[in-house]
Amino acid sequence: MIKIGCHLSSSGGYVAMGQTAVSIGANVFQFFTRNPRGGAAKPLDRADCRAFMEYAAGHGIGPILAHAPYTLNAASAEQRTRDFAESVFIDDLKRLEHTPGAMYNFHPGSHVGQGADKGIELISGLLLRVFAAAKPGHTTVLLETMAGKGSEVGRTFEEIRAIIDLVESRLPAAGRPPSLGVCLDTCHVWDGGYDIVNDLDGVVGEFDRIVGIDRLKAIHANDSMNVLGAHKDRHEKIGKGKIGLEAFGRIVNHPSLRDLPFYLETPCDLQGYKEEIALLKSLRR
Ligand code: FE
Ligand code: FE
Ligand code: ZN
Repeated sequence: MIKIGCHLSSSGGYVAMGQTAVSIGANVFQFFTRNPRGGAAKPLDRADCRAFMEYAAGHGIGPILAHAPYTLNAASAEQRTRDFAESVFIDDLKRLEHTPGAMYNFHPGSHVGQGADKGIELISGLLLRVFAAAKPGHTTVLLETMAGKGSEVGRTFEEIRAIIDLVESRLPAAGRPPSLGVCLDTCHVWDGGYDIVNDLDGVVGEFDRIVGIDRLKAIHANDSMNVLGAHKDRHEKIGKGKIGLEAFGRIVNHPSLRDLPFYLETPCDLQGYKEEIALLKSLRR
């Protein structure tokens, strides 16, 4: 069965998100760990975490995907901003230990004019310090593929690979966290110049050659308002954008993608998400 869901508000806690997911036909969901534009997180409700784990097991929900706040920039030129990113990352991973099996997705960062190589170096350094401090035992950390808006790092598969290589080559073998993974955002790779409409096989093959298909752990399913290579990052409803419904039919059925969890981040309310989930389910063969 397809694993599919959408981004949900975390304001009511985990059980509430699980119930909302079930009510719209979802069996996975994504949520922000804290205010996406700020930094403060609510104290963790451990009873809610325990109740959710039971609810998720009973309803076949998972894996859930936690999304780091947008303000987290591991590649910033400012020490203060990098320190903030590090403390949020560590705190999030510690909190996620209470919902084992969750994944944690983050935008690699923006190098703000320092150059992609410097950005890659800063991001890897931060990941190494985070892994040393938080020792994520149960949480897979995912780098999200980016559209290449502004100075975003992670706009090519090569940049993602470079971050992973720098981290893993410096990790002490004994203290290895579960491998770093990747979340592929369909809007972002399209905007980044990867033609998933006319050459999905070619793009998936390129990802496999450069990053390794085993690294791919999640898909952000979003249509795009813009043309191939626009580097804009404006999400559109499924089938209403430049990627289009036919391409999503191929995406949800692709042999290398079909067993991954799909998370919608389209401009929809809950009813809209319910309809998109049903739509993508109907495309499955
Ligand atoms: Fe994202
Ligand atoms: Fe995304
Ligand atoms: Zn986006």
